[in-house]
Amino acid sequence: MTKPAIEIKLSKSKKQKPLAEQLEFGKVFTDHMFLADYLEGEGWSNHRIVPYEPLMLDPAATIFHYGQTVFEGMKAYLDKDGSVRLFRPEENMRRMNQSGERLCMPQFDVENALDALKQLIITDREWIPATEGTSLYIRPFMIATEPYLGVAPSKKYIFVIILSPVGSYYKEGIHPVKILVENEYVRAVAGGTGMAKTAGNYASGLRAQEIADRKGYSQVLWLDGVERKYIEEVGSMNVFFKINGEVITPALNGSILDGITRKSIIQLLNHWNVPVTERKISMEEIRSAQQEGTLEEAFGTGTAAVISPIGEFNWSDEKLVVNSGETGELSKKLYETLTGIQKGDLEDPFGWTF
Ligand code: PMP
Repeated sequence: MTKPAIEIKLSKSKKQKPLAEQLEFGKVFTDHMFLADYLEGEGWSNHRIVPYEPLMLDPAATIFHYGQTVFEGMKAYLDKDGSVRLFRPEENMRRMNQSGERLCMPQFDVENALDALKQLIITDREWIPATEGTSLYIRPFMIATEPYLGVAPSKKYIFVIILSPVGSYYKEGIHPVKILVENEYVRAVAGGTGMAKTAGNYASGLRAQEIADRKGYSQVLWLDGVERKYIEEVGSMNVFFKINGEVITPALNGSILDGITRKSIIQLLNHWNVPVTERKISMEEIRSAQQEGTLEEAFGTGTAAVISPIGEFNWSDEKLVVNSGETGELSKKLYETLTGIQKGDLEDPFGWTF
């Protein structure tokens, strides 16, 4: 297959870049974006980098009514030599295609997506912040654009990549968070779209998150949608527990997102010969371990925070404190190793950085 040429139209004016210390998450966008168009029967065309600007869409476009959309999230870092590093970007592009398959959306060739991403980052390279903890957040997404109100897969799509310089997730250093176990609302059920990165999963999670916020908790712990018994994810992160020396994470069951940080942590733990198991794990089991004093650590994992240690669970008003509310040794070591590999400060024995 020949590589599609990417036409580049540069912006006439450059936007003011924010100061590194004022960077937040996802509020400022770079000067350019990547776009490609899809038409059923013809495939992808018109691969282009253009000035960042609002999209023009027909109000009847499928995306607005039936939510046919998928997205991804990853980060680019400037290493100490000034090179740009991406962490396993092919995994994100592959996952976008898996999500797309679930939503009857077209596939976008992984190599072409990486090519587009590279060219876009080169175009907006000056936007990659350099200070400790900062990065360039990358948001690829695909939306259905056919103007048609029938409930059916769209025949038209656009694939877009936008970039946003982001600040450090941990401005005051890595610290544990308090989690509210959600007994009523669920994020996803097996057979639904939980394993796809699609907008509806996040919209349906907002209500529980709002309640948790109000009660002073940073995230919710999602339980399974059938029995509200087994643990699935924490906020928009995968979740891990260390019990009596063994690391346990819920097995992928169709309703859990196959996180790239999760996958990398399992590989790292195997590499270190730390026992790690993917299986069902219930809230009952966590409570028993906590009461017996064998619940050593708990943490969430994802692109944004990398590792987010959990210091306390509130389960139906019962408070389960983990590791006296402190960051555990394994959480710290995983955080330092993964971020070290991502930024190029540590050797990358897995060939993860690009
Ligand atoms: N679960 C959900 C629901 C997410 O949105 C994310 C963030 N992409 C994750 C888990 C973590 O995935 P990753 O490690 O690939 O960022």
